[in-house]
Amino acid sequence: MPTQKKFIHHQLFRITLLYCIGVAVISMAGNLAAGLPMNLNIKWLVLLTCSLLALVFRRKIRHKTRLHTAFFLILILYFTPMGFIESGGSANNALGYVMLAAVLIGYIFRGRRRVVLFLLLLAVFQGLLILEYSYPQFIGQHAAFAIFMDRIIQTPVILGSMFLVVRHYTQAYEETHQQLEQAMITDKLTGLYNRSKTEEVLEMEMERYRRSGNAFSIIMIDVDHFKTINDTFGHPVGDEVLVQFAWLMKSNVRKLDTTGRWGGEEFMVILPETVLSQAGQVGEKIRHAIEQDLQVEDRQVTVSAGVAVVQSADTVPSLVNRADQALYQAKDAGRNQVMPSIRPKSPDLTGAETGIGTISIK
Ligand code: GH3
Ligand code: MG
Ligand code: MG
Repeated sequence: MPTQKKFIHHQLFRITLLYCIGVAVISMAGNLAAGLPMNLNIKWLVLLTCSLLALVFRRKIRHKTRLHTAFFLILILYFTPMGFIESGGSANNALGYVMLAAVLIGYIFRGRRRVVLFLLLLAVFQGLLILEYSYPQFIGQHAAFAIFMDRIIQTPVILGSMFLVVRHYTQAYEETHQQLEQAMITDKLTGLYNRSKTEEVLEMEMERYRRSGNAFSIIMIDVDHFKTINDTFGHPVGDEVLVQFAWLMKSNVRKLDTTGRWGGEEFMVILPETVLSQAGQVGEKIRHAIEQDLQVEDRQVTVSAGVAVVQSADTVPSLVNRADQALYQAKDAGRNQVMPSIRPKSPDLTGAETGIGTISIK
């Protein structure tokens, strides 16, 4: 995160330098073409030189914030007054550039430095406005046509730059936010949903069930003798087994289903619009896929699973508890098998809904 934030600042500073170089070159060329006095180009030449030096030495300088500060100090203390006084005062585009500078200061700097630079910019501009009012003779006047040309060319440049700066920062912010959000709901090892996101999906499904009455089911799956796998082959191999298992599990469920890591080597599948018999078949499919395809050296990896369908009096913990109990029964019965929760508590749960007796359990 801090790296990304710094990266955005550095990128913005680089864009600012390139922008200053572009504006300086165009303005000098324009002044020359219009036959305006050469001394008007001094400030552009200073800006061009400073921007080029900053661009070249940017990478070599260790205290980059100091370089950013020095550059903005030149902009505020030298360039702003020169531009204002030489080029028609407030009748010119000075206000636009000052606003652009304020936006850049807001994005590039942090903390007290940001406040000080902003206040300095404000003080300088206010001072210039007072100077213009009190001593108008100090302000170089431009012909109406020159002012019009200046505005018509520079307004899109200034507004466009502001738009690009804000868009650049907003995009970077949104990307970071998305990455953070993704990290908050994802299990780092397997890439599946983590426990808290899985619980959130469970709550959502429960809510949907209460409104629609359409049953959903869950499968709790646990790797058999996983401790022995860790002890025999080492923790990193154990991790790889979990990754492979997660992948196999995910590829054996529908897109609609949710797969999450409940904790350690225990996983959950949430199956919307699915009754117990169908969920049992999915559990069996996963169990079979693992038995077929997951080995560590010559050792077969197996899993056990407990399946439960939602009942009318259920809460999320009571449903999870039933799947958990079924999983314990699967372990007790010798592992490598899928066990449905066969304790329908609700009177309105029919045999057809539970589908008991239709599951093929190994
Ligand atoms: P059972 O068949 O009864 O489930 O036995 P088991 O050995 O699988 O179960 P137990 O609960 O005794 O051991 C689970 C092990 O899983 C213990 C723990 O160190 C290991 N484990 C938990 N999370 C991870 C992980 O992220 N990576 C690895 N490699 N091991 C993990
Ligand atoms: Mg286990
Ligand atoms: Mg376990």
